[in-house]
Amino acid sequence: MYRTHNNGELRASNINQEVTLSGWTQKIRNKGFMIWLDLRDRYGLTQLIFDEERSPKEVMQTAANLGREFVIQIKGTVIERESKNPAMPTGDIEILVKELIVLNESLTPPFTIEDDTDGGEDLRMKYRYLDIRRNPVRENLIFRHKVTMAVRNYLSAKDFVEIETPYLIKSTPEGARDFVVPSRMNAGQFYALPQSPQTFKQLLMVGGMDKYFQIVKCFRDEDLRADRQPEFTQIDCEMAFVEQEDILQTFEGLTRHLLKEINGVEVGEFPRMTYDEAMYRYGNDKPDIRFGMEFGYLNEVAQHKEFNVFNNAEVVIGIAIPGGNSYTRKEIDKLIDWVKRPQIGALGMVYCRCNDDGSYKSSVDKFYDQEDLARWSEVTGAKSGDLICVLSGDTEKVRAQMSALRMEVAERLGLRKADEFAPLWVVDFPLLEWDEDTERFHAMHHPFTSPKPGQMELLKTNPGDVKANAYDLVLNGNEIGGGSIRIHDKDIQSKMFDYLGFTEEEAKAQFGFLMDAFQYGAPPHGGIAFGLDRLVSILGGQETIRDFIAFPKNNAGRDVMIDAPAPIDKEQLVELNLKLDISEE
Ligand code: ASP
Repeated sequence: MYRTHNNGELRASNINQEVTLSGWTQKIRNKGFMIWLDLRDRYGLTQLIFDEERSPKEVMQTAANLGREFVIQIKGTVIERESKNPAMPTGDIEILVKELIVLNESLTPPFTIEDDTDGGEDLRMKYRYLDIRRNPVRENLIFRHKVTMAVRNYLSAKDFVEIETPYLIKSTPEGARDFVVPSRMNAGQFYALPQSPQTFKQLLMVGGMDKYFQIVKCFRDEDLRADRQPEFTQIDCEMAFVEQEDILQTFEGLTRHLLKEINGVEVGEFPRMTYDEAMYRYGNDKPDIRFGMEFGYLNEVAQHKEFNVFNNAEVVIGIAIPGGNSYTRKEIDKLIDWVKRPQIGALGMVYCRCNDDGSYKSSVDKFYDQEDLARWSEVTGAKSGDLICVLSGDTEKVRAQMSALRMEVAERLGLRKADEFAPLWVVDFPLLEWDEDTERFHAMHHPFTSPKPGQMELLKTNPGDVKANAYDLVLNGNEIGGGSIRIHDKDIQSKMFDYLGFTEEEAKAQFGFLMDAFQYGAPPHGGIAFGLDRLVSILGGQETIRDFIAFPKNNAGRDVMIDAPAPIDKEQLVELNLKLDISEE
């Protein structure tokens, strides 16, 4: 038997017991006649003591030669510790060691296995198995497990059935490129890895499963943005005989349950906002509503003077930074530089100080008097002591720039508190989205999303105005889930494919199976998918999803530990009927 107890469980009540423990050597303090050692496993640390006078000689000798991260087994007696450590659950006791077996030696690890390690990100990724020995990483993985268990228990209690769907499939369009897998047995043919189980979950509804969920890997070959993973996990869900309201209720329930269960936070009914309203008030379809700084549209109160920058702009938008009047000129200039960075792309920024005595001082005093500026403060909701920041230009651009500024300022002011949770449903998304590159409309969510009742006709005349039965769940400025009510009528679905530019043959080749299925009594249905990695990281109060994934890929999409992706053997290429060098033809 390797152990009678783990390293986190012995207490004063165990004193005088003979125990066997196993684990990794953490900290070693060698005074020659006395050696102290912290033995570590997943459950905690236990202090071992080797004493010249009380431990056998050969045990002392072996102990003196132990290095960091050796795997050892010991037998000994639980004794009361002289200097107790109240910060440690096992801090009242230590083990007087009588027997010591080295189960495995270790090279000196490339970084310290401590909460605050000296290892940089790259090194920790390369030796992820050592990183996982550290408390913060291990705790995150256990935290993730707790979240997934809470999800499973909740949905299962509500009659959802977890069903696996295949990974080797044909493309399911979610707006990214597919990862493909060559088929050895079918020369020149490929599987695609699912971007989501979308079509399969719809087929499960045709199959009468009624309520489905799956905690499932999805694969999207996207250009990598910070903190995106090419493979990620969804809590994927679908229900039959539901309207949008049923879905919102059900998954608001799940989210509320998680916040309570995991974070001990009770939240009331989730507010709802249409997509148009979110864009208008926050310039963003996933607004963080934990703080204000809502957009004030200044067109009416700023476009009547000689200031042509504003006069020529489609929109003039201001926000009031709370307490921002305390910024020095230099700090304001820095903010202006920030909005002018190419990533944000503003040409400049007008500002107005709201002084404590009720007067105003703006960067455009030449054009605007105190009365004008008072109206700016009214529209933006600015109070004395605030700073009004104003951007102007093309609506879409200015909204995006102002949204970025709003988030940046909130971050700097500490308004994005990790332990405060503000969920929000954003509903009535547009069905279509204009794509500059292909110069045509694309499905904003995916091509299986149903338009709002009665809006199919609008498709011909004002396609950009058609709204969908599509919704996102937003938490603290992050989209944590999104879904829609689906089209369940074959004719409407084929019209939609046609509209989206699929020829009849293409639609048949790609989605014939779904259209066929819809001929056999498809129930009305809809669903949602949550991004589990993101959800877990928000509930865990941390920024990066990588910290909650056991073996993540880096920002370039590489697994630096196993070194993937990697070339494959010539023989393997031949077997797969693949030729890499096209010029060989
Ligand atoms: N399949 C969708 C997605 O991955 C979610 C859904 O519509 O249920 O975003």
